[in-house]
Amino acid sequence: MDQVRVRFAPSPTGELHIGNARTALFCWLFARSRQGCFILRIEDTDPDRTGKGGESAILEGLAWLGLEWDEGPDRGGPFGPYRQSERTALYHQYGRQILHSDRGYPCFCDPEALAGRRAEAHEEGRTPGYDRRCRDRSEEERRRLKASGEPHALRLKTPTEGEIVVEDGIRGTVRFRHDELDDFVLVRSDGRPTYNFACAVDDHLMRITHVIRGEEHLSNTPRQLLIYEALGFPPPLFAHLPMILAPDRSKLSKRHGATSLQEYREQGYVPEALVNYLTLLGWSHPQGVDMFSPAEAIAHFSLDRVSASSAVYDDRKIAWLNGHYLRALPLEELARRAHPFLLAAGYEPDEGRLRDLVATVRDRILRLSEAPDALAYFFDSDFPYDEEGLARQLGRDGLPDLLDACRAVLDPIPRADFDGATVEAAYRGLAAERQIRAADIIHPTRLAISGRTAGPGLFDIMALLGKEETLTRLDRFARYLRSVGRS
Ligand code: GLU
Repeated sequence: MDQVRVRFAPSPTGELHIGNARTALFCWLFARSRQGCFILRIEDTDPDRTGKGGESAILEGLAWLGLEWDEGPDRGGPFGPYRQSERTALYHQYGRQILHSDRGYPCFCDPEALAGRRAEAHEEGRTPGYDRRCRDRSEEERRRLKASGEPHALRLKTPTEGEIVVEDGIRGTVRFRHDELDDFVLVRSDGRPTYNFACAVDDHLMRITHVIRGEEHLSNTPRQLLIYEALGFPPPLFAHLPMILAPDRSKLSKRHGATSLQEYREQGYVPEALVNYLTLLGWSHPQGVDMFSPAEAIAHFSLDRVSASSAVYDDRKIAWLNGHYLRALPLEELARRAHPFLLAAGYEPDEGRLRDLVATVRDRILRLSEAPDALAYFFDSDFPYDEEGLARQLGRDGLPDLLDACRAVLDPIPRADFDGATVEAAYRGLAAERQIRAADIIHPTRLAISGRTAGPGLFDIMALLGKEETLTRLDRFARYLRSVGRS
């Protein structure tokens, strides 16, 4: 069998939507699982769907996810160019072929008149498709209109009866009645091809064997099949991926949270987690496993395991997976990835310290964007005390004196020996001597040095803050307690 060739064909709208990223991923997984080629084609013939910097956002997004492509606008390939805006001459060439073989005709109806007729049809309860007014014009009439400079589009002659059958690789047989399709436009009067025409011509010329795309394109497939037929091209296999729905089963949109890959990136999702999660939106691992590497997904991937019913997006699950991937990263790598998030918050740790700091919170965050808040008190000593925690400590008699005693056992420790184990031994010694629970000094100390009631191991925090800072913060808390009248 010929080599499998699968393309991802985004419009460069300016961002990579999460649904499109899922489409790209499934195309990539399928291509890789069949030792095939993954091709990137930019569908930029519609100025309304072409955003500034849109192409680079897509290329960057795919590269960030690790979905490397074999042919594309940036790297060329044997069937280029890979931007539709650079392929206009090809669409015109095949447009002429359609015209000459009488499978299409020029349409001189102007868009305003068409809109009026559509509205009329709609009001009268008729199907609002094109009324085929130009289909039966005589050759002579066409020549005359063209000679007088009348703008015209190219329409396909669609059969008026019967049906067309799509054998979908995921959904099975889907039938469309020809009379639902009308004589749709292939090339607009301004010379631009329509999506369906450019797509069919390119998929053929680029030797695409499998067209894998979102379900929203299923209704385009019979039209594309008619174009293949009119041009005498053998069609590829089509497979339409299930929709991604929000938890309330409505269409996933901005109001459900992040929708573009860039937003996920900014929230501190790592590509490993996104790839894993997106793979689960429509596909399932044969052993029911939830966490797997791309290599493992490739090893098991097949369209048979892609579900035809909608996938429901679950933001708790994606966050949970992300947390897992964060914990699985080597510490250096985690530190490297957390670094830009800390810098953006105005924190500038040096490399060695960054690694130690990140180690304290790696089990406590689900997204990298949570790192600055989780670590804030290491960088900024000007924090408020947690209200409930403070209320609990304010109820204790003699706490400022106890904090002074804590200070007194820490003070003799040389700065260089101020590590977690030494500090802990000093604290446990003090608790034993006073016959109190270690918790009685651990809780107020935590509040004093972090302002919080929970967090990483206290002795690790103290060691990371260092002796001076720990003592300063203990003093400050004791002073504060005295100032509010607790002695
Ligand atoms: N440009 C279309 C889109 O972005 C591509 C659809 C297809 O894969 O055929 O939705």
